[in-house]
Amino acid sequence: MENSKQMRTWLDDMKLDHPLVIAGPCSAETEEQVLKIAHELKDTDVNYFRAGIWKPRTRPGNFEGVGALGLKWLQKVKEETGLKTCTEVANAAHVKLALEYDVDLLWIGARSTVSPFIMQEIADALEGTDKIVLVKNPINPDLSLWLGGIERLYTAGIKNLGAIHRGFSTYEKTKYRNIPEWQLAIEFQNKFPDLPLISDPSHITGNREMIFDVSQTALDLNFDGLMIETHYDPENAWSDAAQQVTPEKLVQIMRDLKIRKESDPEAEYNSELTNLRAQIDVIDGQLIEMLGKRMKISDSIGGLKKQKNVAVLQSNRWNQILGAMILEGESKGLSEEFILKMFKAIHQESINHQEKIING
Ligand code: PEP
Ligand code: MN
Repeated sequence: MENSKQMRTWLDDMKLDHPLVIAGPCSAETEEQVLKIAHELKDTDVNYFRAGIWKPRTRPGNFEGVGALGLKWLQKVKEETGLKTCTEVANAAHVKLALEYDVDLLWIGARSTVSPFIMQEIADALEGTDKIVLVKNPINPDLSLWLGGIERLYTAGIKNLGAIHRGFSTYEKTKYRNIPEWQLAIEFQNKFPDLPLISDPSHITGNREMIFDVSQTALDLNFDGLMIETHYDPENAWSDAAQQVTPEKLVQIMRDLKIRKESDPEAEYNSELTNLRAQIDVIDGQLIEMLGKRMKISDSIGGLKKQKNVAVLQSNRWNQILGAMILEGESKGLSEEFILKMFKAIHQESINHQEKIING
């Protein structure tokens, strides 16, 4: 594993005994709302208070953030609670204002990371800053685009960098708002083991009920922290109402999460094992997902065969599939015996499905 951390980063300098926690509402709505949430998060594990001031909305006409006015509220948060603050910046004007109002950490949203022009504009505006800058993954699962964005910041002399994994858009409806594609995050970590990587289970799930499980998976995969949208009245939030949790719930999530410790050799072995098992769990989930998809297609074929009154079993086609898969399996170190057994089982399930359809 190339996972061992070599360099000290801004995160190590914080000397936390738990993963970094960023929490606060999706959007700053009113001064009272911002301060009420911040006070409820004070004296918890929360390290940074987040609030979106400029909100990237998919369609116009929705609440697009309070704008620069919210920066004053973030300053008040810092004065009254001592929490450090953070917000999203999406252009040079945002950067200028956020620096002027001394926001401690800036993040770049998924819709900005996709655009090299915007990333360069932001990098130029941030040149030489010692603020922490976190780059969310782009909305499309493109690792190079994510890395390219970070590289632009690094080249502009920004040294306190990190990344946020918030999942990826798909056309297909899934249980996630943005599918995690964990493999991509793991590859990211292997490429840059020293760059702090934060999970954003709120935007991955879009659903507060799923936040805990995704957070646990992220921690098992060695993520360095969590960004969780938090609101005292989630149902009535002005944006992302379904995914926000109450401060109370956040505290409970933090208490229930199993956190790895890396200090002694036994713990190191355990955390490595947990990490590898988490990777296996991710892939097992994908296997089931793919098999489910395969059966759906098989059902459609069953429908066609029924219309044309064709037999379920087509041995030519079956032998073709099997031959190709044995070769493919061999190239991945999988034995012929295993491929045969596995595909026979898949094929049998397929036949069962189709027979059900054909026989009504
Ligand atoms: C957010 O953090 O509120 C946000 C808009 O996130 P993303 O860029 O991941 O959509
Ligand atoms: Mn949000």
